[in-house]
Amino acid sequence: MPYSRRKPAARLDPRRPLVLDTRALPRSPGSARTEIRTVPAPADLHAGLAGIPEGADVRLDVTLESVTDGVLVTMRATAPVTGECARCLEPVSQAIEVRCQELFSYEQGAGDGEEDGYSLDGDLLDLEPVLRDALVLSLPLAPLCRQDCPGLCPECGALLAQVGAEHEHERATDPRWAGLRQQMVQAQPVGPPAPDTREENGRGSP
Ligand SMILES: [Zn+2]
Ligand SMILES: [Zn+2]
Repeated sequence: MPYSRRKPAARLDPRRPLVLDTRALPRSPGSARTEIRTVPAPADLHAGLAGIPEGADVRLDVTLESVTDGVLVTMRATAPVTGECARCLEPVSQAIEVRCQELFSYEQGAGDGEEDGYSLDGDLLDLEPVLRDALVLSLPLAPLCRQDCPGLCPECGALLAQVGAEHEHERATDPRWAGLRQQMVQAQPVGPPAPDTREENGRGSP
């Protein structure tokens, strides 16, 4: 059948939230329109200790501009980021904002190489790979719950932000502690009670 040969196997689905229809954009260079939409975050946006929860609201501010070769997309995206503080491992949530610009050329798969950039599929363009790259590259590799997070006590693992700056441990080799430790060992009962103690208690003993 002639029509099946002309269409590539995978066409963009215009119902997908990250697929934009450019029909409303005049093809004369210089024409532009802006679209603001909130889309669910695609899956697998993670890097290091941080990620964007799948389905979370990502706010897009997209300007489409007709240029000679295609449509120039200028995008600003704001997304929530969750993760673990790199110092204290407490949950972190913050927002990131990314900006990027990509040309979607009219010519389909110009050059057929992977690095040849994006192209329009008819009137449609798919923002997902652009958004995905921009967001993943902007994720904080070592997120912090706060910029001056003091982290964990290296000896006992206590949250230093909770136990306070005066939290410290005496060194095991400190002579003052060595003496006290010896007294404590001596004060502990060792083995069964001595016979005279048992006679004093009387009734409790067999
Ligand atoms: Zn922290
Ligand atoms: Zn400690």
